[in-house]
Amino acid sequence: MKITVLDGYGTIGGNKILVEEKNEIIFLDFGMNFSMYGRYFEEFLKERSRRGIYDLWMLGLIPKMNIYRKDLITDDLIDEVSSKKRLNIKGVLVSHAHLDHVGNIALLDENIPIIASPETLLILKALADVSRGGMGMEIPFFKVRERDGYILKTGNYSQRPVFSTDRINDNARDFISKVHAKRKDVEKKELSYLEEFNTHFDIIPHRVDHSILGAVGYIIKGDLTIAYTGDFRLHGLYASYSRDFISLAKDANILITEGTRLGREEDVNLSERDVYNNALRIVEEAKGLVVADFSARNFERLQTFKEISSKTGRKLVITDRDAYHLYSLDLYDNSNRLKDLIIYDEKSSRENEWEGYLKNNIDNEWIDPFHIGKNQEDFIICFSFYDINELLDIRPVEGSVYIYSSSEAFGEEDIFSFERLMNWIDYFKMRIEGIEVINDEITFKKGLHASGHISEDELYETIQRIDPDYIVPIHTQNVEWFRKNFPEKLREIKNNETLEI
Ligand SMILES: [Zn+2]
Repeated sequence: MKITVLDGYGTIGGNKILVEEKNEIIFLDFGMNFSMYGRYFEEFLKERSRRGIYDLWMLGLIPKMNIYRKDLITDDLIDEVSSKKRLNIKGVLVSHAHLDHVGNIALLDENIPIIASPETLLILKALADVSRGGMGMEIPFFKVRERDGYILKTGNYSQRPVFSTDRINDNARDFISKVHAKRKDVEKKELSYLEEFNTHFDIIPHRVDHSILGAVGYIIKGDLTIAYTGDFRLHGLYASYSRDFISLAKDANILITEGTRLGREEDVNLSERDVYNNALRIVEEAKGLVVADFSARNFERLQTFKEISSKTGRKLVITDRDAYHLYSLDLYDNSNRLKDLIIYDEKSSRENEWEGYLKNNIDNEWIDPFHIGKNQEDFIICFSFYDINELLDIRPVEGSVYIYSSSEAFGEEDIFSFERLMNWIDYFKMRIEGIEVINDEITFKKGLHASGHISEDELYETIQRIDPDYIVPIHTQNVEWFRKNFPEKLREIKNNETLEI
C-alpha cells in the first residue's frame, strides 16, 4: 500500500491524499489550499477561468498530474499534462463540505466519482447553485468548456458520478440531480450508493462531529487498514459520532489525522453553550441592530443564535443563500430548520433561478433592509463580511453591535482582510465583539467561537485509544507535537512524498 500526500502537510487545509494499492487509487479529499492560493490571488486577482486549469497548474496550486477534466485543459497545456502518466483513480472520498477539503474536486476528470454523505452532497449542490460561477464550485454539475485555442468557452451542463454513503429520500435526491439554470441540457447521471462503488478497497464511512453537518471519517481496508479522521472534534453536540468513529478505527494500521489546534497558545476548549452564554449577554445589552457573523454552514451556531433571538425578543434574519442551504438539508431529514426564520430580501435587479425556486417552495417571511432599518432593535441578522455593504441600506443606529463568531483558523474557508472589516465597523460606528485591535494588531477575543476541531489533550487520548502502528499528520502546522509525543509511530509524509508500507 502506498500513501502519497499531494498537499496538506504542515499546513491547515488543502487536503489531497492519494492511497494506492493493486493498481487502484482513491483520493482522500481534494481541497483547495487557501494559504498557497492567497500567495498569488486576492479578491480582484483570481485565476482566469477562461484558461481552465492553466493558471493553477502554472503556479503549482494544483498537483501537476494527468488527472483533470479534459475540457479545462487549453491547447498550450495539453502536451505538458499528457506527458504525465494517466492514473487509475477510482474516486474521491469526501470528508465534509468545507472548501479546504473539496474546493478543487470540480477540476478533476469528469469520470472520477465523488463519495460523500447525503448532507455533504446537498450542501455542495446548494453551494454550486448559489455561487456566481467559478470552476471550483461546480459539483456535481459543471458546464462543459469548449476549447477555442487558448480560450475556453462554456457550453452545456454535464454531471460527475456521485455516490452517497447513506440512503437519501426522493426529494433530496431530486434536488441533487436537478440543475437550476436557464440552459438545462444536462446529461443526467443517477445518484448511486456506496455499496455499488466498484473497488477492491473496503470503504467504511462513519459520521464524525465537526462545525458543519454531514462530516465523516473513513476506514479504508486493503492489505492494511487506514483510518482517516477528516476534521473532527469531541466537544460538539454530536461528539458521540466521533467517539464511535474512534472505536471503529481501533487498531488501524495507519491513522491519518488532523491536528489543527495543536500548539495554539491559550487554547480553551469552549463549548457551544459557552458561546451561547457569552453572545446572549452581548445581545441583551445591545441597543440597536445586532449582526452575527459566522459561517452560514455552521448549523449549530445558527441554532445558538436562534435561541438567543427568541430569548431576547428579537427575530433572526438570514440571507436567501443561507435559507437555500437550510431548505436543501430539510429535504433530507425534515428538521424544519427554516422555522421562525425571516429571510433578508436583498434587492437584486435580476432574480436568479434558485431564488425563484426558493420563493416558490418555502413560506417564510421576507424582509427588506429599509424595514429592518426602522426597527433595528427587533432583529439579529446573520451576515458575513461579504454582506457588509448591505448595512449601508440598513444604517445601523448608535449602540449596534457586530458579533464576530467565526472560524478561528485563517485559510480554512476564505481569505479576507480583517483590516477592511474594521474600516467598515468604524464607518458604521458599531461596536465589534470577538475581534480586538491592540497596538494596530488584530486579535481574536475568546468566547464567541467554539472550535470545529479536536483539542490537543483529546487528540492525544484519541491516538492512545486507536493505537495505530503509524500516524500520518495532516491539516496541522505543528508536526513537532507528533515528533515529541509519538516519535515511534510518526510517519511524516511531506507534500509529494510517498510512504510505502
Ligand atoms: Zn473543516
